[in-house]
Amino acid sequence: MITDSYNRKHDYLRISLTDVCNLRCSYCMPDEHYAFMQSEKLMQPKEIATIAATFVSMGVKRIRLTGGEPLARRDFQEILQRLADLPVTLTLTTNGTLLHRHLDQLINAGVTGLNISLDTLSQDKYRLLTRRDQFVQTMRNILAAVEKGITVKVNVVVMKGVNDEEILDFIAWTKHTPVEVRFIEFMPFDGNGWSGGQVVSEQEILDLISTKYTYQALHRALQATSNPYMIPGHAGSFAIISTMSSPFCAGCNRMRLTADGRMKNCLFSKGETDLLSALREGRALKPLIEQNILSKAEKLGGQFGDESFRELDSDQLINRSMISIGG
Ligand code: SF4
Repeated sequence: MITDSYNRKHDYLRISLTDVCNLRCSYCMPDEHYAFMQSEKLMQPKEIATIAATFVSMGVKRIRLTGGEPLARRDFQEILQRLADLPVTLTLTTNGTLLHRHLDQLINAGVTGLNISLDTLSQDKYRLLTRRDQFVQTMRNILAAVEKGITVKVNVVVMKGVNDEEILDFIAWTKHTPVEVRFIEFMPFDGNGWSGGQVVSEQEILDLISTKYTYQALHRALQATSNPYMIPGHAGSFAIISTMSSPFCAGCNRMRLTADGRMKNCLFSKGETDLLSALREGRALKPLIEQNILSKAEKLGGQFGDESFRELDSDQLINRSMISIGG
């Protein structure tokens, strides 16, 4: 097992396939001109499979494909086929816009769960937030995935004054729609203009929901990344990812691989290990992976002090933009 110095076992790898996305959400892509990774710097399908297989031989049991938008990669099918051969649970995080082109292949490859990002239920606001007009297609694709028996989690990054007034609309949506809506506290990444005042905390979300609904907290597994809740009589449920107000680092089992083949041991880690160059130079990957994980900080990449997250100066954080990490 890949074990860090806090005795956390790491069996979950998130692989970003590309930093390209067909949407332009401001919290994900920096405002200033963003230079996409050059294609020769991206891991190729065979390289992705080789690096993934190394992690699997070290105990990884779950692989999640992320981006950018992973389905925007032209060779996505080849990557999927190669990874489907590994003995892992394979899942995908997507913006959902291109899902109709890939749903059957995903099911055939054994993918049973999808996380789909959707920050608003309003078509007009979707256009404003993403700077693209893909709301109707995305909604259609979410419902098609549900219909085909896929477990769908809908990721909503909640930002004060942007979409927090839609929290109750999302809850109402779960009355008849069997999805888990996951409210995510807004997090700081390079260039996303984060400030503590824009975070809507888990407690604030629950306080708002309780004005209209009676919810019940469900059991959270140690390694889970969200606190789950249900509302009696609703076909769906909701959960809250409280990374800012109450992080889940104690049970963290996650590692990340960026699209250019660099290993990050935490969403907020400063350090990276260039596994792709090592692979191309014929160097062994396992010692590098072990070394990387031993440098993992106890929480939040070691970059957050003890101050309240509201006081945090995001300019002091050293990290990539979200689109180049893979979320
Ligand atoms: S912030 Fe880092 S250590 Fe904490 S749960 Fe997320 S990835 Fe794991």
